[in-house]
Order: sequence, then structure tokens, then C-alpha cells
Amino acid sequence: MTYLDSNIILKVVDSFKTDYKVQLSQLHAAYIDKSNVSRTPAAEQYQHLTGDWKVYGDSLFDYVTIQLDERLPYKSVQEIHPSKIVVDIFGVTSNTNWIGQLSSATEIKNAWYEQPEDDLMRVFIELRHQQHWGYSIFYDDSDKLTIRVKRQPRALSLKNMVIAVDAGHGGTNIGATGVTTKINEKDYTLLIAKELEKVLRQKKAKVVMTRVNDTTLSMPERIRFLRQQHPDLLISIHLNSSPKDTTRGVSTYYRYIGFRPLSIAILHSMTGAGLNEFGNVGSFNFSLSGLTDFPGCLVEVAFLSNRNGEKKILNPGFRKQVAQRIAGGVEYFLKNL
Ligand SMILES: [Zn+2]
Repeated sequence: MTYLDSNIILKVVDSFKTDYKVQLSQLHAAYIDKSNVSRTPAAEQYQHLTGDWKVYGDSLFDYVTIQLDERLPYKSVQEIHPSKIVVDIFGVTSNTNWIGQLSSATEIKNAWYEQPEDDLMRVFIELRHQQHWGYSIFYDDSDKLTIRVKRQPRALSLKNMVIAVDAGHGGTNIGATGVTTKINEKDYTLLIAKELEKVLRQKKAKVVMTRVNDTTLSMPERIRFLRQQHPDLLISIHLNSSPKDTTRGVSTYYRYIGFRPLSIAILHSMTGAGLNEFGNVGSFNFSLSGLTDFPGCLVEVAFLSNRNGEKKILNPGFRKQVAQRIAGGVEYFLKNL
């Protein structure tokens, strides 16, 4: 469903193998891996009210803050046309009588709420720009829920961007293997990621790499690193595999609808080079696509399970072309905003 901040209070109502079932509100339940949960004494309070709201900005971000009396669970979705962030806060009833809004908030156009259920409050944040640039949801020390909204960068060109490039797999996690030569996905994602880094740097973008050598990096490690770096965009490089050796083509993936345009621009740029299209895939539940903090695109360059795809991946000229095409897709995305 979502990532949660730490120390969120969850009411466990059942247990299944590795998961707890938790009751989020009267009508909503969820499952969470037991390894992510620690038990506390039973809560004394099951009903919660909202306090002060504030909408404001600082030099970097816009914020919506809502005072709660406990770290309650939440989930969020993105909407487009018009662009909105919609956050459901579970187990709380609105006791808010006004929403103070400061002109320092420049990306948030409107903020309001509805109470669709007695114990579910829905927060709407309408954005000024059509493109979603991401947001982070967390609590501060006083249980104030904060939705930190990323603004659209002022200059929409590569030289003004920080781009995170993630080479899939690595170390003990080898990924897919080539159908004829048994090459490892992890080695070729790294080669393509490094080509991409080179092209983006030539175009004066700042680039941060999740890995630059053959190291084992878990998904939580990648996520922590990426969140610290505050990139504007994330591109994750993978190579695909299918049980059917005729399956082929390039594909790009996104999870949230507001981040789709980047993945379409990259796919079109790549198929423009004569690559077969496997497709643009949405609602993709891959760890890094689950980040809401910045737009991300997962690129599955080719199928290693297809002879032709494998042959291409082995060709350094092809890898260079892929890097140029991905960078071209990012440029096209920025130019069309
Ligand atoms: Zn992979």
C-alpha cells in the first residue's frame, strides 16, 4: 500500500505467518510484515482529533502540517488534471476550524479536507503545476503530520537538475542471466548506468549514483541513500527476463500516475532508436517506484532471455546509444512541461 514513517501506531487484530493484520480505521485494514513492528502496551485512546493546520513554504519546499495527538497511519495517492496529492489519515476525526495559508507556499494552490468516514480524514493538496515533483510524508517530534511538497524547479533544463541513477542489483544479487552467455544483469545495469552518468554530466546535470561498483545494496539502503540526496528525478536501470525466449523489447515503469510522463518520454525516446516496444507499465509495485519523494522511472532496457536482446546488451555501442536515448527522453520530458 505505502511506506510509513517510523513509530506509527497500528492496532494489531490478527496474525498470519509473517504478517500482522492491522485495523487502520473501522472500514480499512492492512497487512504489515512482523519484522517491521514492535509491540507496545495497549493504547488507551482509540479516538483521535485533528488540531492546527498550517500551509506554508520555506526556501526549498512547501508544507502542509496537521497537528495530531498520535502518529497515525496514512496513505496517499496522486491525481492528475488537475494535479493533486490526496492523503488519507486513518483513525482521526477533524476538529479543525480553519486552515491558515501563507503566501510563502508557492507550489500548493489549494489545501482542504473532507471527512468521508467518521474515522478517516482525507486531505487534498492541489498543485499549481501540472507535473508532480514528489512529496514526503512524515511526523515531527510533536506528532505533527507533515506533507512536504517538492516545487517545480525554476529552470527546466538538465543543467539545473540533480538526477539519481540506480544500477539494478549488484554484489550477491546478480539479477537475471543471459540466455546464451549467462552474463549477469548486475554487471550490465552498472555499465549502462555509468554510460548514462557520463552523458548526463556532459549535459551539465548533477548525477548521484546508488552504486558505482559491484556491491550488494538492499532496497532499504538504496531508499535511505536516495532520500538523503534529494534528487529531482530518479532513473533505475534493469534488464528484463521472461520464461518465453521470444519476449522482447524495451519497457519503462512507474507506480504513481503523476510520475508517468517521465516514463513515457524515456520510452518514446528509446523506441525512436528502432527498439521494439514492450510497453509502458503503470501501478508497478517495485520498491524504488514506491517512493513518492521525486518522479522516478524504471527502465528495462532489453530482455536478457531473448537472444537478440542479449546480443545488443553485449554491444558497447548499443549501451552508449541507450544512455543517450534515456538522457534525450529526460530532456524531452523537461522541454514539454
Ligand atoms: Zn532487474
